[in-house]
Amino acid sequence: MTKFHQLTTTDVLDKLLVDSNVGLTDQQVQTNRELYGSNELNEDKSDPAWKIFLQAFKEPIVIVLLGAIILSLLSSAYAFQVQNNVQHGKEALYEAVAIFILVIINAVIVFFQEMSTKKSLDALKEMNNRTTVVLRDNKWQVIPTTALVVGDIIKVKMGDFVEADVRWIKSSELSVVESHLTGEPDAIEKITKALSADTELAERTNMGYSGSTVANGSGVGVVVGIGENTELGNIASMLRNTDKKTSPLQITIKKLTASLMKISGGIVLLTFIIGIIKAGELSITSLSSVLSTSISLAVASIPDAMPIVLSIVLTIGATKTAVNNGLIKSLNSVETLGSTSYICSDKTGTLTQNQMTVTKFYDGHNEFSVGDGDLEVNTNSPFFHGAVLVNESSVTKDGDDFQTFGNPTDIALNVLGQKAGVTKQSLTNDNQILRTLPFSSDRKMMSVVVKMPNGFRLYTKGAPDVLLKHSQNLLIDGQLTKDSTKFESIIDNFAEQALRTIAVAYRDLTKRQAETASLEELEQDLTITGVAGIIDPPRPEVKQSVKTLNDAKIEVVMITGDHAKTARAIAYDLGIVKSKDARVIEGSEIELMSDDELFNSVIGTNIYARVTPEHKQRIIKQLQRHKQVVAMTGDGVNDAPALKAADIGIAMGINGTEVTKDSADLILLDDKFTTIEKSVRSGRMIYANIKNFMRHELTTNVAEVMSLLFGLFFTQSVGQVPAGTATLSALMVLWVNMISDSLPSFALGYDVAESDIMKEKPRDVNESILANNTWSRVLIRGTVMGAMVYFGFAWAAQMGATSNQAQTVAFLTLVFGQLWHVFDARSSKSIYRRNPFENKHLIAAVLFAGISSILVTAIPFFNVVMGTAQLPGIVYWIVIFVPALPTFILSGIKEIRAWSRPV
Ligand code: ADP
Ligand code: MG
Repeated sequence: MTKFHQLTTTDVLDKLLVDSNVGLTDQQVQTNRELYGSNELNEDKSDPAWKIFLQAFKEPIVIVLLGAIILSLLSSAYAFQVQNNVQHGKEALYEAVAIFILVIINAVIVFFQEMSTKKSLDALKEMNNRTTVVLRDNKWQVIPTTALVVGDIIKVKMGDFVEADVRWIKSSELSVVESHLTGEPDAIEKITKALSADTELAERTNMGYSGSTVANGSGVGVVVGIGENTELGNIASMLRNTDKKTSPLQITIKKLTASLMKISGGIVLLTFIIGIIKAGELSITSLSSVLSTSISLAVASIPDAMPIVLSIVLTIGATKTAVNNGLIKSLNSVETLGSTSYICSDKTGTLTQNQMTVTKFYDGHNEFSVGDGDLEVNTNSPFFHGAVLVNESSVTKDGDDFQTFGNPTDIALNVLGQKAGVTKQSLTNDNQILRTLPFSSDRKMMSVVVKMPNGFRLYTKGAPDVLLKHSQNLLIDGQLTKDSTKFESIIDNFAEQALRTIAVAYRDLTKRQAETASLEELEQDLTITGVAGIIDPPRPEVKQSVKTLNDAKIEVVMITGDHAKTARAIAYDLGIVKSKDARVIEGSEIELMSDDELFNSVIGTNIYARVTPEHKQRIIKQLQRHKQVVAMTGDGVNDAPALKAADIGIAMGINGTEVTKDSADLILLDDKFTTIEKSVRSGRMIYANIKNFMRHELTTNVAEVMSLLFGLFFTQSVGQVPAGTATLSALMVLWVNMISDSLPSFALGYDVAESDIMKEKPRDVNESILANNTWSRVLIRGTVMGAMVYFGFAWAAQMGATSNQAQTVAFLTLVFGQLWHVFDARSSKSIYRRNPFENKHLIAAVLFAGISSILVTAIPFFNVVMGTAQLPGIVYWIVIFVPALPTFILSGIKEIRAWSRPV
C-alpha cells in the first residue's frame, strides 16, 4: 500500500479528489463524513445512562440499607412464624418495603442529579470546543475540530494543535512537536516534498500527526486520517487518560464517610450489647427489640448525601463562574481557586487593552509625535520599510477609519505606515517576501527575508534592547555608527512614558543566506534604523480589581516580555506597585540567579520584565516553595509548561493559543484580568458554601445519633410506650437524611457570598475543611439538637402518647430543628448576621421539606409505611417553633462572646 508520505503533494491531492485552492465541496464533505465518520476518539464517548444509574448502588449507604432490608425481612418472618405476632410482622414487612422504595427513589434522585451535573459539565466543555481553520468551497472558515473530514485542507499556525493526520502541502518555517508519538521533545521542521517509502514515522517530515503542537511558523496540509484512524488513534488505548482527578475535598469526604461508617459499626454493636444487657437475656425477642434502634442508628450515622451534594455544589459553582466569563475546566480547580494567594498576570491584553497605537517614533533622523492626521516624513527610509514589511497584519483605510486584522503590535506599525503613506502593497513590488520568521516571546523579535531588484535583505523588528545585542551598527543621520547612547536614551524616554517600544533593523544578505540560512544565523549583525513607541492603555477596571485582590491579601504580580520601565510605569498606574521605583526583576537577572537566590527575591517583587516562558516556571516554583498558591496566565505556545506548573493555569479565551487553553485550569473567555478576580471570588464563595453544607449535614447526623443513643440509655416503659422503643424509626431517619436534610444542603450551593468574603486572607490549603472549630460547633449543636429530639419523645410519652406519636414528635422536632439550623449554618458568624431571605432556593427547599414532613405525619398511607401518627393541632405548633430555640440561643451566646472579645 502506498503511504501518503511517498506521494508528491499533487498526487495526494489527486488521490483525495481535492483542489488545494478550493477545498472540498459541501457535497464531498458529506460523502466523506459518511465514509469515514467524525473526527473523534472513542474515549470521548461517555458512560451510557444505565451504567450511571447502577453506580448509585455502589454507595456505602445503599449497602447498609440493603442489609437493613434483609434484617427487617428476617424480623418479619420471625414475627409471623415463631411469635405469631401479626402486627409486628406486618410492620417489619412494611419497613422492608419502604426502605426498598426509598433506596430506589434515592437511586433515581442520584441518577437525575448526576445527569444534570453531567449536562452542565458538558455545556462547559462545549464552550471550550477546539476549532480548526479549513478551506471549503473556496472559503477559509473556522469549524469545530470534530467536523473535519479526510480531504479537508487545513491551515495551522504557531500555538495550534494539529487536529488530524495531514500531509503538508505548504510550509512556512513550520515546525511541530510530536513528542506524544515519538518521544522526541524538540520541534521538527516540516517540508512538503515526497519521501521514500521506508521512512520511519519519526522521520516523515512531510506529515503532521493529530495531537502535535505547532511550535513555530505556519503551514497548510491536507487531511489524510481522522479520529481512530490516526497515529494517535492507534496508540490511544495506551494513553486513555480519563482526566477524572478526585479533588482534595472529595477525598476528605470519602475518608470521612469511611471513618463514620466504622464509628457507626461500633455504635451499632454497642447498642446491641447494651440492649441485650438491659433486656437481661440473649434471646431472639431481645434481639429483635434492639434491632430497630440499630438499623436507625446505622442509617443516622452515615452522611450519605454528602458526596453527591458536594459534586452538585461544585458544579453549580463552575456554572456560575462561567456566567462571569471564567471557564473552569475541572471541578478540582474550583476549590484551589479559593485559596489562591499569588496571581501572576501577563501585561499585554490582560492588564492592558491590547489596543495599540504608535504615538512616538524615531526614524534615525528625528523624533516625531503622531497625531490622527497624515505624517510629513521621509518615507523612503529603512525604518518605514522594516516597520511595514515585517508585519503580518492587514490594514485598509476606510474613510477616516482603519479596518484592521491581526496582531495589535503589528497593526500599530502598519497604521503608522498608512498615516505616512507607506503600504505593504506599495513596497512588495520591489521587495518580494521570501521567508517569514514569526515572532516568538523567547526571541522577542521577528524577521522577513526579501528579494530586492539588486539583492537580498533581512528586515527585523523587535524589543530594542534585544535587537541591540544582535546588532553591529546603528544608522543615525544617514551614517553608520556603533555609538548607541542617543538611541538608548530615546528608548528609556519612551519606556518611562509607559510606551511599548519596538525597534526596526535590517541586514543585507547573500543569496545563499537568504534562501537557506537558519534563524540563528540570520538574526545577527543587524543595523538598527529607528524605534517606535506604542501606547497600550491599561484596562480601566483593572485598578479596582487589583485593590480588591490586595484587600483579600492576594498579591498581584505583573510578568511581561516588555521593557522594565514600560512595565513599571503601567504597574504603578494600576496600583500593582505603590512606588514609582518599585523593584523590577528582569529576565537577564533571573538567568544569573540560583534557585535559592530567586527564592529570596520572589516575595516582595511584583514586576518581572523581559522574561521568557522558562522564567515563569522558575518564578512559580520558588513561590510555591514559600507555600503560596500560584495562579499564572499565559497566551503563547511556550507558556503551556508554566500553566501546568502553576496551581491554577490561566489561558486567554480570545487571544490564547489552543495549546495554552488545553493546559489551563481556568480560561478567561473575555481575556480580562477582572475575570480572574471574579473567579477567585466564586472559588472562595463555593468553598464557604461547601463548608456550610458540611457543617449542616454533620450537625444533623450527630443529632440523629445522639437522640437515638439518649433513647437507648434513658427510655423506660412510660404510659403507652414500651421500654426499648427507638426515639426515631429507621424510615424517619431515612426521610430526614434524604429529604429534609439534603435538599436544603443542596440549596446552600446557590448561596451568595457573605459580603466580606474578599476581606479575609486566603485560606490555608493544608487546613482541613473540618478544622477543629468546625467539629466543636458540629458536636455542640448536634448534641443539643439530639437532646431536644429525645426530650420531645419523652415528653410525648409522658403525656400519654402512643409509641408512634412519640416518635412522630421526635421526628418533627428533628426536621424543624434542622430547618432552623440551616439558616445558622450558612453564616460563618451567626444567624443574626445574614438576611435569611437572600437565597430563594433555600427558602423553597425549606418550605418544601417542612410542609412535606408535616404531610407524611398527617396522611394515613404514610402513617402505615413510615410509622408516623397524627398529632393534636397544638403539638404541631410546638414542634415547629420550639426547635428554633437552641439555634437562636446558641447563636446568641456566640454573639455575646464576640462582643466581649476585644477586636
Ligand atoms: P508581553 O506579552 O508581556 O507584552 P511579548 O512577549 O508579547 O510581551 O513582547 C515582548 C517584547 O517583544 C515587546 O516589548 C516588543 O518589544 C517585542 N514584540 C512584541 N510583539 C512584537 C511583534 N509582533 N513584532 C516584533 N516585536 C514584538
Ligand atoms: Mg504578548
